[in-house]
Amino acid sequence: MVLILLISMPLQAEWHGEARPLMGTEVSVWLWHEDEAEGQRLVDAVFDEASRINEHMSTYIESSTISEVNRRAAREPVYAGTELLTLIERALDISELTHGAFDITYDSVGQHYDFRERTRPSETMIEEELDRIDYRLVELDRVASTVRFLRDGVRINLGGIAKGYVVERGVDILRVSGVEHAIVTAGGDSRMLGNRRGRPFMIGIRDPRRDGEVAISVPLENEAISTSGDYERFFDEDGIRYHHIIQPETGTPAEGVHSATVFGPDAVMTDALSTSVFVMGVDRGLRLIATLPDYESIVIDAQGRIYYSDGLQPPESDETTPPGG
Ligand code: ADP
Ligand code: MG
Repeated sequence: MVLILLISMPLQAEWHGEARPLMGTEVSVWLWHEDEAEGQRLVDAVFDEASRINEHMSTYIESSTISEVNRRAAREPVYAGTELLTLIERALDISELTHGAFDITYDSVGQHYDFRERTRPSETMIEEELDRIDYRLVELDRVASTVRFLRDGVRINLGGIAKGYVVERGVDILRVSGVEHAIVTAGGDSRMLGNRRGRPFMIGIRDPRRDGEVAISVPLENEAISTSGDYERFFDEDGIRYHHIIQPETGTPAEGVHSATVFGPDAVMTDALSTSVFVMGVDRGLRLIATLPDYESIVIDAQGRIYYSDGLQPPESDETTPPGG
């Protein structure tokens, strides 16, 4: 009897997973579970959580809390609730850490880019909005859970951190339900629980200039990994690539890097840090990562050169081979 059980159990156990369009990108969940129905229930639970967070934190949804904050916080403190307040607080901490390279008020200018419509703000418009980009203009009241902007026209957008939060929350749900092997992904952000049952997950970092090709694969378990690239949302005009990662000092897309990858224990951090390293560039970005013992980074610059943070052993002889030629 026992023997039969042992033999039949592994036949039922398998990977359960699904990918759905959400948050303007694709969200996917893969998990190992012995029970098919329970596995599917858990997959659904992660998607439900992702939708809940999106409805709360997306600036593209009029009824979201963050849209309410953006409409009113320049006039009065707006109640945001503990969850949103805590995430905004973490975003502001990362602004301090990165000396303003990561700044959720980038949206004051950022809102005027539409990559699908291929429209961008004029120089005058950027000039007009630029003094509204400054994370120090966001004031939080932790006791009352309110947000206030210290200047008219300030806007915040959590696009550089919310997907990391979604995958972190998704993995939390799976962990407390006893799942031991899973990967949750939202766009360029993934968080792994355990490994692929004995083997690490192999995470491919895209070649920024060759669609569908992988520049480097990294074996990871129990970690988060995020990539920010200039190929996610963009349009090209007169040889210039206008993309979605904004240099807060200028209000224009950050130059010099094609993709920045960060991995480490927490997906909220890797998400915000990959955006930050992209903005800071190879030198400043990797110097920042060197100060964070749990985090590592791989940066591909505009010449296709690959750079690794100090804690990584670059693959031999391959260190500066351009991925796109
Ligand atoms: P994705 O996973 O969507 O490719 P990233 O993690 O690279 O995104 O973050 C890009 C998003 O971050 C942009 O779409 C925008 O919403 C937001 N963002 C752009 N520039 C900044 C910045 N300097 N600081 C914080 N957030 C930013
Ligand atoms: Mg990011």
